[in-house]
Amino acid sequence: VTARSLGGKEVAAGLRAAASEALSKCRAAGITVRLAIVVATREESAAWYVRSLGAAAARLGIEGDVSELPPDATAADITAVLDALSADAGIAGIVLQTPLPAGIGAAEIASAIDPAKDVDGANPVSLGRLMAGLPGFAPATARAVLELLDYHSVELDGRRAVVVGRSLVVGKPLAMLLLARNATVTVCHSRTPDLADVTSTADVLVVAAGRPGLITARHVRPGAVVVDVGTNTGADGSLVGDVEAASVAAVAGGLSPVPGGVGPVTTARLLLNTVTAAGAVGVEPG
Ligand code: NAP
Repeated sequence: VTARSLGGKEVAAGLRAAASEALSKCRAAGITVRLAIVVATREESAAWYVRSLGAAAARLGIEGDVSELPPDATAADITAVLDALSADAGIAGIVLQTPLPAGIGAAEIASAIDPAKDVDGANPVSLGRLMAGLPGFAPATARAVLELLDYHSVELDGRRAVVVGRSLVVGKPLAMLLLARNATVTVCHSRTPDLADVTSTADVLVVAAGRPGLITARHVRPGAVVVDVGTNTGADGSLVGDVEAASVAAVAGGLSPVPGGVGPVTTARLLLNTVTAAGAVGVEPG
């Protein structure tokens, strides 16, 4: 093994400490911080994530407010809930859990989330602001990858970054964040003909495909930094990433573990965003 482990637990602890400090200020100002989570799926992995986000929020002192809709909810049903939460002055942040019922596009529905409460950067307005380099909430997972790289002092300026995956929650916004940090960015997807040909050019390789074992040693340039965003259920029920950790750790310079890498940073970032959003609630635009 040559790769150093790019763990996320300390990064997450730092974000939680910042959230906790901001939360005390909210409390002193009489603001109760509430995070609304909207769910319209019975998928077990989503349910697990919602429970763990709710528990992490509660540990910090943020009230979780889960709105459960049936898996056959319509776009109008979900939009009505998001509209109500957006208008509710007692709610600081809103997370729309995926997957959504079949045929409903997340970006379209997320337009109903007030951008000031869009703590997971799902509203196309938030994504547009990210692309334009304007302030706003970026998708928490994409931001978490940057926070992990920064914590471990991984240089991005002028480096070649390859992102595997082009979803709106991870791949695309992450490409924008890396570009803003002066990396030269390439985005791969399921139609990329020779994945290894591209990924092996990366100084920094970030994988968010949802395909266990997709990235093996032959995909990685010796010494490259590899961030594994994937969270998949392995054959034995354990949580595994998209990177074949054993073979990649033998060639990479750094590798983020699954679990214990991007995951905890994402949760902590979401909570910090929620407290940030709460701070803005009640502040009238000038
Ligand atoms: P997604 O919406 O399913 O997108 C997956 C992307 O990977 C797509 O762009 C797809 O290409 C691409 N892809 C699939 N198979 C590929 C292949 N064989 N070669 C190259 N590209 C391939 O998934 P997502 O929501 O972005 O999530 C990705 C992974 O990250 C999942 O495992 C998810 O559970 C995990 N995740 C983790 C966190 C965290 O906090 N750790 C947060 C969010 C997501 P096409 O566009 O061509 O289909």
